Amino acid sequence: VVRLEGVHKRFGALEVLRGIDLTVAAGTVTVVLGASGSGKSTLLRTVNHLEKVDAGIVEVNGELIGYRRSGRHLRELHEREVLRQRSRIGFVFQHFNLFPHLTVLENVVEAPVSAQRRRRSEVEPEARALLARVGLSDKAGEYPRRLSGGQQQRVAIARALALKPSLVLFDEPTSALDPELVGEVLDVIRDLAVSGTTMVVVTHEIGFAREVADRVVFLHEGTVVEEGSAAQVLDAPRHERTRAFLAKVL
Ligand code: ATP
Ligand code: MG
Repeated sequence: VVRLEGVHKRFGALEVLRGIDLTVAAGTVTVVLGASGSGKSTLLRTVNHLEKVDAGIVEVNGELIGYRRSGRHLRELHEREVLRQRSRIGFVFQHFNLFPHLTVLENVVEAPVSAQRRRRSEVEPEARALLARVGLSDKAGEYPRRLSGGQQQRVAIARALALKPSLVLFDEPTSALDPELVGEVLDVIRDLAVSGTTMVVVTHEIGFAREVADRVVFLHEGTVVEEGSAAQVLDAPRHERTRAFLAKVL
């Protein structure tokens, strides 16, 4: 589903991604690990063109993201086209980013109606079904500030799924939560994994990674230094950097 080839990204003098090659197969879960500043968020953000790459390509479902080919060159897509591409990719942030002035139900309904121009009458029952799926049927009429962090994050997941994305990206979805709320969010993500949703998850939850990840990718200073099955990378890391990182987070 996802293919990154030779992706480079710099912020001024700092080269944050230094030639990333990565493939994510349909229906699989890839967990991205790495120290703070290693480029994990930047990597996720290039996948839906929230960050422009300086070199290399990103493809989702065989479609070039952010660019089109024009002879031997790449031309940047029109903003409208980028929004269309982005609307097929779910993104769940560390800090939920719900719309505070909208109810839970409205938060889930908003994007399919405004970005995908779908009919409200058709979207609303789907949104209610998604809220049921994340265990929040009874909160449809609430405003986000009245929910716990774990509940807000589950709304954010429902909102991402409302676009019927072919891919869902998670950037540290539980790291802003109190410890007792982490489990309920991981349970929802685990259910998605079981149902075959293609996901890329940045997380420091190693136990969760071991359980759900088909692939684990370890980033260090903007390069993939190790990649393999969860068992390979987490239980028998080959690279010294991976070992040092795991020793710290486990
Ligand atoms: P964390 O675990 O702390 O979230 P990360 O692996 O997600 O870290 P990134 O957020 O991708 O790391 O950042 C990688 C590097 O790029 C950092 O040094 C960061 O300061 C820098 N960086 C990220 N975004 C920008 C930006 N918009 N402008 C300038 N520098 C940036
Ligand atoms: Mg980050």
